Amino acid sequence: MIVKPFGPAGRDVPAIGQGTWNIPLRGAAADEAKRALRRGIERGMVHIDSAEMYGDGGAERVAGDAIRGLPRESLFIVSKVLPSNATARGTIAACERSLRRLGLDYLDCYLLHWRGTVPLRETMHALERLVADGKIRTLGVSNFDVDDLAEARSVLEREPIACNQVLYHLNERTIEAHELPYARRHGIATVAYTPFGRGAYERAAGFATLAEIAARRGATPAQVVLAFLTREPDTFAIPKAASAAHTAENAAAGELRLDPDELAAIDRAFPAGRRRGGLPSL
Ligand code: NAP
Repeated sequence: MIVKPFGPAGRDVPAIGQGTWNIPLRGAAADEAKRALRRGIERGMVHIDSAEMYGDGGAERVAGDAIRGLPRESLFIVSKVLPSNATARGTIAACERSLRRLGLDYLDCYLLHWRGTVPLRETMHALERLVADGKIRTLGVSNFDVDDLAEARSVLEREPIACNQVLYHLNERTIEAHELPYARRHGIATVAYTPFGRGAYERAAGFATLAEIAARRGATPAQVVLAFLTREPDTFAIPKAASAAHTAENAAAGELRLDPDELAAIDRAFPAGRRRGGLPSL
């Protein structure tokens, strides 16, 4: 698994992590999802992404079961506060609830899920308070455009922004125009959510290029997608997989380095296009 520094002076984190949105919460499917997460961790995908929003805290509980008993320092656990909870006191309380559901005493990174109506200064200071209190190691944001990133940086007093988690897949490369270069200039990691784009790449004309590269490299098209999105030293992806077969496939993508010709061919097959409008999100 390729690992790289996550944000300024950040820890080494695997290029490919594991998402938990829409993870099954009950019954045999939840047991399979826990096994899948665990298998993913064993294969190096120790970055687990969750949020208080996912399943109303249920996803954090499932993730908590999956990581129970594993050495804490080997894991990189991320969760997110809902904008509606992101006041000075609400952020602290939300983090404490997430920690309880995950069975942890600190998070590796804690993000504002998207920007809401609470002043950014208030939320960012609450996140800095959580760092000072040892409840989170680093702080980050999600669905932030360049103006939001600049404002967040300007109101933070002590801590840098570790990451911006954004919608990024082969059919949605908007972030490459502004958010990714801005993040790079300021040492902020970019984390690609929904990296498979609801399967849009499979229906696109460019799929033949992916299939051809995959066949040549003994890989699958999904693995080529993940390798492309994480091709830069500061880009990460967090696919969600509820089956152990998908988890194994995604983890193996973390070993795949595409060469410049392959990257150029994918770039032509799935062009970034000209930026129109703001930052897209789900
Ligand atoms: P995704 O990871 O792009 O896609 C998940 C779907 O892909 C599932 O149906 C999964 O199937 C399937 N899949 C997984 N591995 C596969 C493989 N190797 N080959 C073929 N199909 C595969 O979509 P997502 O869940 O929307 O995004 C990933 C994570 O990003 C989320 O879980 C969440 O943690 C985070 N996220 C964050 C935000 C935000 O606003 N910050 C928004 C959306 C998502 P199975 O489940 O059946 O294995």
